[in-house]
Amino acid sequence: MEQAIKILYVEDDPSSEVLVRRVLESEGFQVITTADGLSAIEIAKQESPDLILMDINISGLDGYEVTTRLRTIEGLRQVPVVAVTAATLQGDRERALAAGCIGYISKPIDVDGFPSQVRSFLCGNREEIESPEEKAEYLVEYSHRLVDRLEEKIRELEKSNTELQRLDKMKTDFIVIAGHELRTPITAIYGYAQILEYNSELPGSVQEVGSPRYIVDRMVEATWRLNRVIGDILNVALIDADKLDLSKEPVVLKSLVYKVLEDIERSGSDRKLDFRIKGLEELPSVMGDSTRLYEAMWNVITNAVKYTPDGGRIWIIGRQIENTVQIAVQDSGIGIQPDDQERIFDRFYVLHDTNLHRSSKTAFKGGGLGVGLAVARGIIEGHGGRIWVESEGHDEERLPGSTFHILLPIGNVST
Ligand code: ADP
Repeated sequence: MEQAIKILYVEDDPSSEVLVRRVLESEGFQVITTADGLSAIEIAKQESPDLILMDINISGLDGYEVTTRLRTIEGLRQVPVVAVTAATLQGDRERALAAGCIGYISKPIDVDGFPSQVRSFLCGNREEIESPEEKAEYLVEYSHRLVDRLEEKIRELEKSNTELQRLDKMKTDFIVIAGHELRTPITAIYGYAQILEYNSELPGSVQEVGSPRYIVDRMVEATWRLNRVIGDILNVALIDADKLDLSKEPVVLKSLVYKVLEDIERSGSDRKLDFRIKGLEELPSVMGDSTRLYEAMWNVITNAVKYTPDGGRIWIIGRQIENTVQIAVQDSGIGIQPDDQERIFDRFYVLHDTNLHRSSKTAFKGGGLGVGLAVARGIIEGHGGRIWVESEGHDEERLPGSTFHILLPIGNVST
């Protein structure tokens, strides 16, 4: 019969843990141990032990607090908890009883008598604080102690939180400064490379590998890409810090979408995709930051390109719904699992194998940094809009496709 009796022993001192376990196991008890209070609560919920032996001086939540918590959990309320502790201050026994223990065994345990002490608690033995006045006093003292500990914990948390915020701000400031520092020389290199590119006397052609024109063309392309990566990292940092400044003006979304498509073509993509555009002509202008909105559209449309195999189609459909404009970017690509449809907007969240990472913004499944959609969401929400995705799921054979919806308020365009 005793074989089935399960005892949870909460103890952070390894030598006591080993001793108690040995003594109880040799008597046929099943013993589960854990060293900290929070996991004791979880294990007790999962294992439903017949008895809990509780060391009082454990870190985090102490044994008194774990016992009080256990007394509030349905299904564990009746499980006897016995304090096993070396604490020998006056009133320790009474404090343990006030916290909800049914008994008290002092450490070091008496190896010979210990199993029968445990058995007596299993058979219903309950210790009590004899006098009702004394009991009330200990309860008051215990509740004061709980409030003190709570206050202490809240102060610690507030301190850590302030420190974390300080470190987070330092990180963001560093990224923003580093981003700007990198951007300045890159803009200069990009500008000079473009001057060379526009020079009609530059020998060779973009197809002639190794010729000066080919090399300059590659340099322009590479610097442009580098600039975009830095832009994305900067944007994530600014969005995180709630510091994304928007300089608003009336924006014609149709022109913006066409610019994205032109730039995709210019980036040398030969992905054989069928682009169709519907309803953008009729859309009113929206009040927005055209550079930022371009970045958001670029990220969403290049994703549609990246996750749609050759021969697929990408439709960009616009419509006005009352005071908002909705743009749907619909692809016939690999689709996205329902579980991932919210998470892909988190920064650094990528679904692809990172080995497939490619610098190309348009290669099929050429995954990027995992910040594109976080940036798009930050920008769209910064405009008071919304962005979300709909897809039946992910299937690289059936290609269910995905539709990204972008909703933007028109705003007061006449100002
Ligand atoms: P990345 O830079 O890796 O493309 P994003 O933030 O732009 O990062 O996208 C996050 C993830 O969402 C991508 O890794 C990809 O798996 C998935 N995803 C984004 N757009 C699409 C799409 N149109 N079709 C399928 N999967 C997509």
